[in-house]
Amino acid sequence: MLSKNNKIMQRDLEVIWHPCTQMKDHETLPLVPIKSGKGVYLYDFEGNSYIDAVSSWWVNLFGHTNKMINNRIKAQLDTLEHVLLAGFTHEPAVELAHKLVNITPQVLAKVFYVDNGSSAVEAALKMSYHYHLNRGKRKPLFLSLTNSYHGETIGALSVGDVALYKKTYEPLLIANIQVPVPKDQSEAAASEALEALEKVLQEKAHEIAALILEPLIQGAGGMHMYHASYLVGARELTQKYDIHLIADEIMTGFGRTGKMFACDHADISPDFMTLSKGLTGGYLPLSVVMTTDEVYNAFYCDYNEYKAFLHSHSYTGNPLACSAALATLEIFEQNDILGENEKKRIYIKEKLEKFSLLSNVKEIRQQGMVSAVELKGYRTEERIGLRIYEYALSQGVLLRPLGHVIYFMPPYIISYEEIDRMIEVAYEGIRQLLTD
Ligand SMILES: *Cc1c(COP(=O)(O)O)cnc(C)c1O
Repeated sequence: MLSKNNKIMQRDLEVIWHPCTQMKDHETLPLVPIKSGKGVYLYDFEGNSYIDAVSSWWVNLFGHTNKMINNRIKAQLDTLEHVLLAGFTHEPAVELAHKLVNITPQVLAKVFYVDNGSSAVEAALKMSYHYHLNRGKRKPLFLSLTNSYHGETIGALSVGDVALYKKTYEPLLIANIQVPVPKDQSEAAASEALEALEKVLQEKAHEIAALILEPLIQGAGGMHMYHASYLVGARELTQKYDIHLIADEIMTGFGRTGKMFACDHADISPDFMTLSKGLTGGYLPLSVVMTTDEVYNAFYCDYNEYKAFLHSHSYTGNPLACSAALATLEIFEQNDILGENEKKRIYIKEKLEKFSLLSNVKEIRQQGMVSAVELKGYRTEERIGLRIYEYALSQGVLLRPLGHVIYFMPPYIISYEEIDRMIEVAYEGIRQLLTD
């Protein structure tokens, strides 16, 4: 007789095409059917538990089936599940927008609701281009950083630079120029990259609408990290050359980097900020594009001047998702989350020190509640990330390495004991690669 896990897996594979997956891998690699979640743990149908060390693709902040968020959604569910946001509004959207305006950098004063990360990036790119057009300037190019990731819809993919996702679709993409990301976390690397940025701006700024970047941490690009002084310089240069700065904080927002937003480390206000992932505590799809009154006002005129931003998604500002976001922000308000995270960060940093003694470890990086161990000496075809993934899973930890980079991005409610377990399993997985 098949186990419950296996039964679900087989029924799944009959009909579901999974994201970011070569489906043939599942001929040998079992899917993991999850029955329930609680705190940092996911449980399958056979009673096995897994520490969710990647926050279910970087979305979860306060654990699975969190009481406060659950209650908020349940209450909203019996009040209003959804209503269109054109011509109509509702309390969760209004309250959330006010809160977001209050906590994000100073000049961000308007909230445009979208329903996932990539779509928020699309909307920000369109808004930026359209802003310049409304001001009488045609600027059809975007500028982004090498090794960047902004999502996988056509526009978002165009400004990204992860070959694995992008290369195939190259002929379909929109015009984009890339400048080098700082090569490491040093201030010197940031200065060097700023020089390269200014060179491009001197030549091409008149054609460029915006510079889009992931502040401080490039997530999908292997948890690559850089110094906050790059953000200070990028803000100065974009202002000097009259192009927008779009801070894509979809992954870095809501405390991941140690401050509420990565931009706070540099004390800068971008012209646009995209937020999603942690926004709803990892519960429901929702995203926003935050922007300035200046941008907003460039679209504000009589209807027949045809300057409005006519962009929409069916589930724009869904009330259930907004309620989850309100509960998430309330948890931040009622607890010293950033303070507690800082203690955990230091603890994780100490725990990771011993990794540097392993001969296959190239570098250990950390920024806030994101830590990464980069390995060396392996070819892509060896798929060592997959080996670590399988080993960790067998030990009850969900790690999902990006190529040769093993990273930890747990929900903030992870306990010190669970941190020990998560790191010990990763260490053993990396150490075993040496003896295999
Ligand atoms: C995940 C991510 C996106 C895309 O968000 P989706 O909701 O997956 O479309 C965009 N930008 C960054 C920085 C991300 O990490």
